[in-house]
Amino acid sequence: MISPDRHAFERHIAQTSDLPMGLEISHAGGCFIHTTDGRTFTDFISGIAVSSLGHRHPEVVRAIQEQLDRHLHVMVYGEFIQAPQSRFAALLCEQLPPNLDRVYLVNSGTEANEGALKLAKKYTGRHQFTAFHNSYHGDTHGSLSVTGRAVYRDPYEPLLPGVTFAGFNDPGALEAIHTGTAAVILEPIQGEGGIIPAEKEWLISVRKRCDETGSLLIFDEIQSGFFRTGTLFAFEQYGVVPDVLCLAKAMSGGMPMGAFVSSSEIFEVFKSDPPLNHVTTFGGHPLSSAAAFANLNVLLGDDFAQKAANIEHQAREVLQGEGILEVRGRGAMLGLQLMDSDLTRKVVQDCFEKGLILGWTLHSNSLIRLAPPLIIENDLLAKSLHLIKQAVTLHC
Ligand code: PMP
Repeated sequence: MISPDRHAFERHIAQTSDLPMGLEISHAGGCFIHTTDGRTFTDFISGIAVSSLGHRHPEVVRAIQEQLDRHLHVMVYGEFIQAPQSRFAALLCEQLPPNLDRVYLVNSGTEANEGALKLAKKYTGRHQFTAFHNSYHGDTHGSLSVTGRAVYRDPYEPLLPGVTFAGFNDPGALEAIHTGTAAVILEPIQGEGGIIPAEKEWLISVRKRCDETGSLLIFDEIQSGFFRTGTLFAFEQYGVVPDVLCLAKAMSGGMPMGAFVSSSEIFEVFKSDPPLNHVTTFGGHPLSSAAAFANLNVLLGDDFAQKAANIEHQAREVLQGEGILEVRGRGAMLGLQLMDSDLTRKVVQDCFEKGLILGWTLHSNSLIRLAPPLIIENDLLAKSLHLIKQAVTLHC
């Protein structure tokens, strides 16, 4: 018998595909998600790179509970002093280079990118953007305009004018950055595009070209941030500092929030002409900010660089052999490139039936996303990786 909740989901929740995974959730904790029919799943994708500390980390839950007893929404963003927002912003900026000293809190990843694009337009007085093939920046109009896959953009054209797409890691891309370019937006490690890290020399050359042309460089670290790649932010591995850094996903321990971070000088343009030209009602919600502050404190208090490196090491060691072309990525932001889409589908399905949640990335159907919680214990990590390996061997 189909449960009333499933019935309502199928009947009244707007669907995003004909094939939702459809697990009916009872509760979740650590690396596990439990269903109402008594099954337990290992979440090997962290709710798509969100639950880096696992589900319902006790410190995050405690911070939310304490904040619940103080206040919820009290005023639109930017007017009142709310301790969770201020404390989180200060702690975050302490970890960042000096030019990233001011944080604008929003509700989601795509909103962070929207804000960054608007900030770049207003600061530079220009309106053109350079983005990259295979990128993913979100599904609202601005972010979609700089998302590098035509099948997702085409149904919604016309989008923002003046966007040029260039090849990721292609030296020729530098020609697409000129004195009319407000900003270049990119993921230092493309996520939905199939876990593709930028090459260091190329990223350095993009930074240099932005400096020459007076274009801002926006890094979308919505997926790669908060130790997923082995450093707090992926850009640290490149020695390249952006003008604007966009964050979300793992930032708030499972609560919804996004942020774009830039310099005090650049953010000046949001204060006037006219005042209140970029506002949000719920941005930096106190519960999300309290969760983010606790989440970041936990991340800074342990060796998450080592944990991410261990996940990469084990994955590369176990996932080799027939059917496997490559393990790509950094730290715990990995992609398992298989021979073809048929094998990928079977492996994901087989693992799912055995209680392991995997997934693919939006722009690739022959790559399995591996993004376990960073807190995963060695035994569970090894067990999960062997299950994947067995499934590949069985189906290829
Ligand atoms: N940028 C990147 C790199 C992402 O991976 C995502 C989400 N997958 C987004 C932006 C959009 O974030 P959100 O879904 O929170 O709007």
